[in-house]
Amino acid sequence: MTTPNPIVSGLSARCPRCGQGALFKNGLTVRERCGNCGLSYGFADSGDGPAVFVIMILGALTLGGALFLEFRYEPPVWVHVVVWGVFIPIVAFALLRLLKGVLINLQYAHKAEEGRLETKKSDGQK
Ligand SMILES: [Zn+2]
Repeated sequence: MTTPNPIVSGLSARCPRCGQGALFKNGLTVRERCGNCGLSYGFADSGDGPAVFVIMILGALTLGGALFLEFRYEPPVWVHVVVWGVFIPIVAFALLRLLKGVLINLQYAHKAEEGRLETKKSDGQK
């Protein structure tokens, strides 16, 4: 079994080992294990990583879009409320899913995990 490209399997929210099984249930919740190859997703901890990227990307898109909309069309305020009130949650969800999938797949591909103190075996070797 060849390991899939972590970017491709991450963007498609698939298992980092087999590239087939689903990574999420109910949108953004990581499943317990892969339904295809049985890989436990216990290692998966993307933390705040995806949120940081989403904040940066979505903030730039929203600010740029709001400025463009305002200065190009000068709409009433309620148009901004409706447009950005719909745009922001949808794009935030989509970006979070994509980036969380990619970061978990990259975490698996690079074997990234928390640092641990090495426990020395007491077998007399130095
Ligand atoms: Zn799998």
